[in-house]
Amino acid sequence: MAALTRRLNPQFTSLLKRSLSTNTSTVSEFDSQRSDSLTDDPKGSRSFQWVFLGCPGVGKGTYASRLSTLLGVPHIATGDLVRDELSSSGPLSRQLDEIVNQGKLVSDEIIFNLLSKRLEAGVSRGESGFILDGFPRTIRQAEILDEVTEIDLVVNLKLREDVLIKKCLGRRVCSECGKGFNVASIDIKAENGLPEMIMPPILPPQHCASKLVTRADDTEPVVKERLRVYKEKSQPVEDYYRERGKLIEFDLPGGIPESWPKLLEILNLDDHHHKKSAAA
Ligand code: AMP
Repeated sequence: MAALTRRLNPQFTSLLKRSLSTNTSTVSEFDSQRSDSLTDDPKGSRSFQWVFLGCPGVGKGTYASRLSTLLGVPHIATGDLVRDELSSSGPLSRQLDEIVNQGKLVSDEIIFNLLSKRLEAGVSRGESGFILDGFPRTIRQAEILDEVTEIDLVVNLKLREDVLIKKCLGRRVCSECGKGFNVASIDIKAENGLPEMIMPPILPPQHCASKLVTRADDTEPVVKERLRVYKEKSQPVEDYYRERGKLIEFDLPGGIPESWPKLLEILNLDDHHHKKSAAA
């Protein structure tokens, strides 16, 4: 493992280490037998350090962002960091544009640099803990993350592939406020042992409707390539965390109104949610 870390640019490894060690004070253990302990905030004296895994289009951003609000920890999506860098027209942007628009993965070095910068900025704002979305995406990223901090829990969101493709193609972002929507209307009858799947569109309010844009990598050939890359490079990350007893699998039963309460239930956070709503 040390050899692996040495193979990396020591500058970004130490950057990541520094940003995470400021963020992390003690290490807690995920106890798979007592998942109710997940709701104790925090078990040691630090905040939640969770990861969201799942294919493109599954809704990691949607659910990670809702949980981040509920738990009071930042939602950090490496895809957003990459898109911010792309739109900044900085030195990296041309190189990234080509990679991202082909549905390929950006190099670990670039991702670790972007992530370190984001974590450091968060620490200076007093943030602690995180819900990572879209990271780690390779075994190497997962191993390095393990080297620098401890992950408490990994949520693996799952959806059938035909729905994933429709969801990616229906995705829209408001170019002004950055909020995400989805114009796809999924209504698939139960067949061949697969359950019915109903996911109504998530439509924008009027003030966003005329400002919607589609991500350049949400075209059908690129989405298919991203799914292929996910299976090759990222699915092994699921096994990595499964073997370490940290993975919680969640098959999305439908749209947000149906899935959100069930997700809270399997995470033992439904009570947390009720208390927070009552206090609001
Ligand atoms: P996402 O929004 O998570 O689908 O990410 C958009 C794109 O950013 C991906 O298709 C990759 O090109 C790049 N990307 C995001 N996260 C990572 C990562 N952890 N490792 C490598 N590339 C990434």
